[in-house]
Amino acid sequence: MDCYFHSAVPSVAVCRHCSKAICATCRDGRDLCPSCRLDERMKARAAASRELTGARRTIEPGALAPISAETRGLLALGYPLWPLAALALLGPRRAPAVQRQAVQALAFNFGSAGLYFSLGALANIPLLGLSAFPLLAMIVPIWLVASVVYAFKVWNGDDVRVPLVSDWLDEREAKTRANSAY
Ligand SMILES: [Zn+2]
Ligand SMILES: [Zn+2]
Repeated sequence: MDCYFHSAVPSVAVCRHCSKAICATCRDGRDLCPSCRLDERMKARAAASRELTGARRTIEPGALAPISAETRGLLALGYPLWPLAALALLGPRRAPAVQRQAVQALAFNFGSAGLYFSLGALANIPLLGLSAFPLLAMIVPIWLVASVVYAFKVWNGDDVRVPLVSDWLDEREAKTRANSAY
């Protein structure tokens, strides 16, 4: 019988898992075929990453999965509609992860608006302003796409990281933690 994976190569063994005929090249020390080996490796990797995310979830406040669907919806909509993020921030039960997402959504919106207005001011300056025009035109579509992407991520319970804003929040959180340690 030929090897299942190599045509015209005679088989020397049978896979322990799936009973496919395998040749000397395909066979390994544990009598597994290449596809069963791959399967095993992928399962091990999936288990390892599950463990990793599980460990991170318990430490970091960023995981949003345990937050109720209503709050997550509010936070998700806070990216395209910033007043909702302000509303989430004012809610009575503010988990650290909720607060973080709400502040992040607000910072994302005000940062975009600030960038828009400063580029708008720059665009009024002769010559120098010419380079600001294409950037100015790009801000709104970028903001729109980013806010939709962030909204979907939050809705799915994923932690969202906004460039610059998240780093600033990390720093702030680290400082509060250091202060509360004393
Ligand atoms: Zn097999
Ligand atoms: Zn083979």
